[in-house]
Amino acid sequence: MYKIIDGKNIAAELRRIIKGEVEQIKTERGISPKLVVVLVGDDAASQIYVRNKERACAEVGILSEVQRIPSTIKESELIEQVRSLNNNKNIHGILVQLPLPKHLNEIGVLNEISPDKDVDGLHPLNMGKLLKGEDTKFIPCTAAGIMELILSTGVELMGKEAVVVGRSNIVGKPTAILLLKKHATVTICHSRTRDLGEVTRRAEVLIAAVGRPAIIKENMVKDGAIIIDVGMNRLGEKLVGDVDYELVKNKASFITPVPGGVGPMTIAMLLKNTLLAVKQKTD
Ligand code: NDP
Repeated sequence: MYKIIDGKNIAAELRRIIKGEVEQIKTERGISPKLVVVLVGDDAASQIYVRNKERACAEVGILSEVQRIPSTIKESELIEQVRSLNNNKNIHGILVQLPLPKHLNEIGVLNEISPDKDVDGLHPLNMGKLLKGEDTKFIPCTAAGIMELILSTGVELMGKEAVVVGRSNIVGKPTAILLLKKHATVTICHSRTRDLGEVTRRAEVLIAAVGRPAIIKENMVKDGAIIIDVGMNRLGEKLVGDVDYELVKNKASFITPVPGGVGPMTIAMLLKNTLLAVKQKTD
């Protein structure tokens, strides 16, 4: 019988702890942690994610400001904006909501965020340290959230076969690195993987981060696997994952639902990283 990994509950518990620490920092150091989210354009899904981030910040006592910027902004202007946030001592975390409109170079913009305020963990210095196994200031939020969910099962990762489907910089790659750090044997799949099912059937831990509704079918899953479904696909009013949940769940030992799995954990990790940005602040 499978167990549901309740990301909603685990994230709520994390927020409770973070709230206590935010209060402590306010009283002991007189600092009010602050996150700025830069939202360029009017992507509908991004609007929802940003609203959820604002709500979560408010819940734990982190100040948040959303800078809504028209999609017509030039890249040089956006970079200037990021630099001014870097220089503002009252701002501890900066997040540029992705995706950016097509004419803006995401990498160029993200590289401008100060590594000390890079709460999404996507700056090359933070990503490079993660890759090298050095202490990094910030781990990308979704990957960190996924690891917390796996940890919550109590299952030891050492020596396990882990398969990550998806190789994006924000999810697939950092997740694979974190699994490797925990001594799993890691395989990364992507759109050119020849026989996806053949690889995923080997997985004792399977992470689906593709963005295709129900791409992971029952016959692609090993009996007793831990399944983490990162996908957030909108089908009309409904939000569905990358895993064909109703059929796959019966083969799993643990599985995350969508919604209520990885999504709330990503936000909780963003709060944690914002708090870390304050804790690591030396000036
Ligand atoms: P990207 O589009 O950046 O990456 C998708 C990855 O899936 C790519 O590596 C791509 O391969 C791979 N892929 C596409 N089609 C296939 C296929 N048929 N077989 C195998 N691999 C395939 O997406 P993200 O990583 O940003 O996000 C993935 C999903 O996770 C989305 O649904 C997104 O909404 C969701 N998400 C959820 C979050 C949460 O908090 N719950 C946070 C972030 C994302 P290739 O590299 O070859 O193109």
